[in-house]
Amino acid sequence: MFDYLIVGAGFAGSVLAERLAADAGKRVLVVDRRPHIAGNAYDHYDDSGILVHKYGPHIFHTNSSEVFDYLGRFTEWRAYEHRVLASVDGQLVPVPINLDTVNRLYGLRLSSSELEQFFAERAERVECVRTSEDVIVSRVGRELYTKFFRNYTRKQWGLDPSELDASVTARVPVRSNRDDRYFGDTYQAMPSRGYTRMFERMLAHPNIKVMLNADFREIVGEVGYRELIYTGPVDEYFDHRFGKLPYRSLRFRHETVDKPVFQRAPVVNYPNEHPYTRITEFKYLTGQDHGKTSVVYEYPCDDGDPYYPIPRPENAELYRRYKALADATPGVHFVGRLGTYRYYNMDQVVAQALTLYARLRG
Ligand code: FAD
Ligand code: UDP
Repeated sequence: MFDYLIVGAGFAGSVLAERLAADAGKRVLVVDRRPHIAGNAYDHYDDSGILVHKYGPHIFHTNSSEVFDYLGRFTEWRAYEHRVLASVDGQLVPVPINLDTVNRLYGLRLSSSELEQFFAERAERVECVRTSEDVIVSRVGRELYTKFFRNYTRKQWGLDPSELDASVTARVPVRSNRDDRYFGDTYQAMPSRGYTRMFERMLAHPNIKVMLNADFREIVGEVGYRELIYTGPVDEYFDHRFGKLPYRSLRFRHETVDKPVFQRAPVVNYPNEHPYTRITEFKYLTGQDHGKTSVVYEYPCDDGDPYYPIPRPENAELYRRYKALADATPGVHFVGRLGTYRYYNMDQVVAQALTLYARLRG
């Protein structure tokens, strides 16, 4: 008999398992239908011995000292500030758009205040910023929007930015200084021996049992438990009763190249060319020293694993119906990116799981 059955061994499930076992002394069974722990953050050594992220680049960043310190119990950190270049008009220029981006793209020598003026002259007046198009055109105008955001977003989401909530493109800031870091958070670091190793240490408590290759549906009748924590897709739990919640998927093409460096930056975005959105070269992220290098190409698609909840009003409305059902289901707690249908980063999922733990603990 377990106190908790936890579905999913990603951040949401593993944080709750660790807290419930180590802090509250509960007996916990974690099941995952994949053959590994760590959810989408799973990393492993590929055939050439290079550490890669199976489900695309995962870069840790947060403003929460609580989240950073909590995870720091299970890993040492390697300082890492992420940088991205975008291929635009035949050049590789920094993203987020900053002073160097504009100066290089247009052959100018603007200062920061002149760049603010440049943006202000081009920005479109938007009464109420609702969509992902509004966010960008109201800040930098339509030309830069078209070069950097319109086509990337259409490719990534299969939707025009005007059909997506403002929150999607608002993830990427616009800067008038020369700061070329992708994130502005206080804490930016990578687990020094990888994510999977960090999860192994979280789940190593004797009160935690882990069962892999096990779908919730297959085992639910076989195990005794008092409460359920569910981190899979909330609509799937309820047999898609109100219809399917839309998710965007990706196909990953991993490649190893027989040279030490493949590209000039950890990630290169391709807004206007190619069917893929970006190429990531893992050694930049991990700091690994190796004669070869491994990269991953991301091809967005509709079918496949549910990676991205799609933030737009009609989906929020459908999710609200599932949320009401979830709230009315005693003994079952929904958490995580899929369990609460939120486009959350890793740190937000950790914070959400710690909050749920505090509630369970009472
Ligand atoms: P998941 O990691 O998806 O874990 C859920 C687990 O539940 C899965 O392992 C799944 O197999 C299992 N499961 C589902 N249903 C069942 C079932 N019925 N039975 C058994 N098991 C089940 N965040 C960042 O902070 N920085 C980044 O750079 C970053 N990059 C990303 C890049 C990509 C391509 C993607 C897709 C996401 C990225 N994220 C990033 C987001 C990050 O992956 C998530 O925030 C985080 O992994 C979510 O954790 P989770 O536990 O909610 O879900
Ligand atoms: N985006 C874009 N061009 C870029 C980078 C991002 O249009 O060069 C948009 C796109 O819609 C993307 C969103 O901004 O989905 C958020 O970008 P982020 O890099 O945070 O996406 P993620 O890493 O979550 O896939």
